[in-house]
Amino acid sequence: MIKIILATHNIHKARELKALLSDLNIDVLTLDDISAKINLREDGNTFEANAFQKARIVHNHTKLISLADDSGLEVFYLNGRPGVFSARYAGIEATDEMNNQKLLDEMRSVAPRRRRAQFRSVLALVGNGIEDVTEGICPGVLGEVPHGTNGFGYDPIFIPEGFAITYAELTAEEKNLISHRARSFAKMKGILKSKFG
Ligand code: IMP
Repeated sequence: MIKIILATHNIHKARELKALLSDLNIDVLTLDDISAKINLREDGNTFEANAFQKARIVHNHTKLISLADDSGLEVFYLNGRPGVFSARYAGIEATDEMNNQKLLDEMRSVAPRRRRAQFRSVLALVGNGIEDVTEGICPGVLGEVPHGTNGFGYDPIFIPEGFAITYAELTAEEKNLISHRARSFAKMKGILKSKFG
């Protein structure tokens, strides 16, 4: 069975990706399965550059085919911020709550019709002569106060299009049907199926 390693230290992302990969005939490893400490630098200006950077670092280290996700929230009113800075919007050591609060403060008193936002996920697959990339977007709006406790990151303040509740009020299964990561993953799945059956 082919082995793929997920190039992320984010346990929430690893969990979502593992669930999305579960029906393929692929042995999915995470960085926890290998003992080495890997520094996943991401200093690119785009999601694609960062996804490839992370996938290449892990592939070079492990020689396994590596799958990396780089993702973030883009708020139209803020010209796409936090974007690639989503994980460290309120500073390098910022918690999810601090990032959410900074964004809500910046958007305070911005009218509902101007609160459009989207999540973007870029997946990069690297190894054994393979270099592939896919992208998925989930449109929605930014809430005014956090709601819900599921998920991670900006989930409590993002209301996906067609819903009246946040990502954090959806179950993991529901989020995995509509999320940006599920959408980029659906495309990656086609690539994985064509390469590994
Ligand atoms: P990355 O690990 O550099 O790709 O950072 C991704 C960051 O974007 C996370 O730390 C979150 O802040 C945010 N993010 C990405 N995907 C999601 C999601 O599905 N829900 C909530 N926040 C997300």
